[in-house]
Amino acid sequence: MDKETKLGHLLMTRAVDKTGNVISIKDADNGLKCDCNCIVCDKPVLARQGSIAWSFAHVSTQACSWSGETELHLIAKEVIKKDRRIKFRHLTLNGQSHYIDVEFSEVEEEVFDGLYRPDLVCTSVDGERFLVEICVSHQCEKEKVSFYRKQRENLIEIVLPTRLPEGVEYLDEEIVRALIDQATVHCLSINPLSIFAEELAALNQKHISEQGSQLRYLRECGRELEAKRDTLSQSVNKLSRCYSDWEKHKVKVENKVKKYENNLRRNIESQKEVRAYLQQTHQLQHQIKELKSQCSAVKNQFNNAKVALDQEISKYRKQQMEAVKHQVSTTEFSLNSQLSLLKSEIETLRTLELVLREDDSVTKVDTAIQIIKLHYEDKFDELERDWMVVRRLKNDSLMPTTIAENRRTLPPLTSENVDSLVSSVRTYKDMKG
Ligand SMILES: [Zn+2]
Repeated sequence: MDKETKLGHLLMTRAVDKTGNVISIKDADNGLKCDCNCIVCDKPVLARQGSIAWSFAHVSTQACSWSGETELHLIAKEVIKKDRRIKFRHLTLNGQSHYIDVEFSEVEEEVFDGLYRPDLVCTSVDGERFLVEICVSHQCEKEKVSFYRKQRENLIEIVLPTRLPEGVEYLDEEIVRALIDQATVHCLSINPLSIFAEELAALNQKHISEQGSQLRYLRECGRELEAKRDTLSQSVNKLSRCYSDWEKHKVKVENKVKKYENNLRRNIESQKEVRAYLQQTHQLQHQIKELKSQCSAVKNQFNNAKVALDQEISKYRKQQMEAVKHQVSTTEFSLNSQLSLLKSEIETLRTLELVLREDDSVTKVDTAIQIIKLHYEDKFDELERDWMVVRRLKNDSLMPTTIAENRRTLPPLTSENVDSLVSSVRTYKDMKG
């Protein structure tokens, strides 16, 4: 909110009476009887002591620069004159707040010191002088501050807040006292011989002493740091040499890496070949597997064929055996019939022998014997051939003694050995059966 709108609506409660003193509306007579003039333009004002808010007002409508700021400035001076006390904050060197509460034995207004006219000139109970400026809209000029500093004066500026509590139409002492409590108080110039200047100096002395020890400590640290810096600088030199060596080493390593890369590329190429070879191997293995399975199938077929062949062979053997048996039986029959033929021949020969004996024709008989002998041996040969057939069918069969080599010669024919011969043939026949 703008300060003029805030203070601009205030009512005038102070005016100058005919003796030149500033009086309150409370102390004036009502209406024109008050016989007062405006503090700013010095034109007559009248007192309005109605039922709501008492105030002065210009009689004429001529322009005047009176404002709420004038009212505030005026009543602030009244309050300080009445209270005879100012409380303000001052900072020490280490930034700590130092509160100063000054009590005055005397407060004067409008004292001209030859160059400036401060709002208030106050004398503390200790006899120190304080010049007080009350700031509502205009801050203390630099030249004024500079002047009082050179004069070694205490100059205090009270900057009053211009925002009022809501609903305030006119100012009274209580409202302004509250505003002074909220005010920012600047100590623009300090007399170096003042009591609070001594207090501040003591506080600052302590701070300065602390700062001094800190400074000494920092200098010590600085020296240590310089020593460290030297060490570090040596280290940096070493490192820079290391770096240079490292750079050289890096070049070597890079060359090695390049070589290694080339080798690696070649290895990768050869790996590709190996992979192709492995692929071929894999294909070949697959083919081998297929061939194996084909082989297994062929083997199965072979086994089946073998079984079939064995069955065929067995069948064939059986047939052959049957055939041989049949042949043996046929041969046996043939031998029996030949044997009976021989018997009949022997009978014939006996008869012949008898005839020959009767005729004494030995020569004729010998011839006949020779013929029989030959025929006899032929029969043995035939018998042997038969036995060989039998042996092929039955391995463990022994050669019958009948057909032994030394028995093939025809013995001298008698009635006895003819019977023995017939018995041998029978034995042979039994063996074959
Ligand atoms: Zn006026």
